[in-house]
Amino acid sequence: MPIDGRPVRDGWVTVDRRRIVALGHRTSPDDGVRRIDLGHVALMPGLVNAHTHLELSYLRDEVPPASEFVSWIRGLLARRRRQPDPRSPEILAAISAAVAEAVACGTAVLGDISNTLASFGPLTRSPLAAVVFYEIVKFNAPDPEGVVERARREMDALARAPMVRTSLAAHAPYSVAPLVFRAIRKDVDRDAFAPCSVHLAESAEETEFIRTAGGPWRALLEELGSWDPAFQAPGGSPVQYLDDNGFLDARVLAVHGVQMSSADLARLAKRGTTLVTCPRSNVHTGAGVPPIDDFYKSGVRVAIGTDSLASAPDLSVFAEVATLHALAPSVPAAALLESATRQGARALGFDADFGTIEPGKRARLLAVDLPPQTDDVEEYLVSGVQPSQIRWVE
Ligand SMILES: [Zn+2]
Repeated sequence: MPIDGRPVRDGWVTVDRRRIVALGHRTSPDDGVRRIDLGHVALMPGLVNAHTHLELSYLRDEVPPASEFVSWIRGLLARRRRQPDPRSPEILAAISAAVAEAVACGTAVLGDISNTLASFGPLTRSPLAAVVFYEIVKFNAPDPEGVVERARREMDALARAPMVRTSLAAHAPYSVAPLVFRAIRKDVDRDAFAPCSVHLAESAEETEFIRTAGGPWRALLEELGSWDPAFQAPGGSPVQYLDDNGFLDARVLAVHGVQMSSADLARLAKRGTTLVTCPRSNVHTGAGVPPIDDFYKSGVRVAIGTDSLASAPDLSVFAEVATLHALAPSVPAAALLESATRQGARALGFDADFGTIEPGKRARLLAVDLPPQTDDVEEYLVSGVQPSQIRWVE
């Protein structure tokens, strides 16, 4: 499954020093190469989980489902307050277990959102490539530049790691002040390749807040002492708001999009922004069911994330893909597989090494066991592959 082309039956791949050298089918090169027969499998690039929060892994099964998103967030905040130390053994152990689970589910690359940078160390000691997005949540910010500068200093103080990069993320339009969005963007722009992430158009309450500056988000901000009385409702949609402020472009991962209209999706497509969909989480949190068909019809780039273990049952991208397939059976299986590999790798800036089987890329490849008579391999792979069917090709 090279991803950048049709599936190849009876295919082979040659690898040298962990890089892909060539691929083809039937007659393989036999001059001095050591052959490994993988058996009856689909060979594919390692998956990309473009959105998760590893530091919330200790909250697995702890935050019950909700019918409204803000109620779910209240449940999350209440549980997070019980463990205020981000470096507690409980949190670190859960991060390490989640990393191991992600690898066992076939993940090669991760986009991880962190408010504490606690996931950085465990990721550098893992086989995963990753971007750790240091996420800023700051609605009432008298010194927006200072907020971003402090975050930048903390990121710069981390040890260098070849496969784990850091960048900034803005939490969401209802939790980040307009001038903080601007300061984040300015920081990200200093590096021509750095990606940036934002939760966008997730809940109906967010749409209401951007239109009217009222509703359940306003009430929660006031309760938390984070409301800024100078804030004026931007009006329009959350996508319009961020786009009019120059935040959206090809380096941004816009996460969720449950509430996006076709006009919103057209804007994202025009900007080259990647939409990251996490449908299982959206249902659990009460945000709603994302319009998967519309995402793919709009021409926007779509990547896939599981979101955190606080709102998803596991970190399996294959399980997330199966949910997309069930919600939108008419979206071609090949498009879903591309979302789970190449699109995520591109959005995270790892496409030179991951996302397809192409000469020059890392040979971080998965062999997925197939039943004897599998006519349509793409269809099979989007229908719910279990971790027990997966092995990494070493
Ligand atoms: Zn998230």
